[in-house]
Amino acid sequence: MKQPIAVYPGSFDPPTNGHLDIITRASLIFSKVIVAVTDNSNKNPSFDIKTRYKMLADAAKNIPGVEVEIFSGLLVDYVGGKKASVIIRGLRVVSDFEYEFQMALMNRRLNKKIETVFLMPDESYTYLSSSIVKQVSRLGGNTKGLVPKSVEKYLKEKTL
Ligand code: ADP
Repeated sequence: MKQPIAVYPGSFDPPTNGHLDIITRASLIFSKVIVAVTDNSNKNPSFDIKTRYKMLADAAKNIPGVEVEIFSGLLVDYVGGKKASVIIRGLRVVSDFEYEFQMALMNRRLNKKIETVFLMPDESYTYLSSSIVKQVSRLGGNTKGLVPKSVEKYLKEKTL
């Protein structure tokens, strides 16, 4: 049986326990999972790329078969360059679907050998997003249980 390598791309601004749930699930299916932190500046991230990389690398360090990298440019080129054949994306709610479907079909058009695979997190993470975590933190709310330990510290230090 084939043992494909998968790439899980995202902004991870910051990484949440929902992202970690998807990474863990993917690690049980694929021979290697490369978590690719995107340097997509038109999203105007709150955390710089190196900080997002560090937070993820720390949070995922004990999950076997997972590597964290920074990438910029066209995703399908990056995936092909890594000898990967799968793009992982997370689906939380129906509202994620339209954008994800559009991206998946565009990526297929750009490289038909690469498949996008959607994974669903544990239902307790379906309401969780990086932006809601930042909102809670900005207003002084507790982010324990929403983000990995490595991220809590950065959220407390940062004025969002
Ligand atoms: P992007 O800017 O690429 O959407 P995100 O960091 O927001 O980057 O999300 C990366 C991927 O992780 C997306 O597929 C998104 O749907 C998924 N994701 C985000 N939050 C969660 C969550 N709580 N549970 C499962 N998947 C999630």
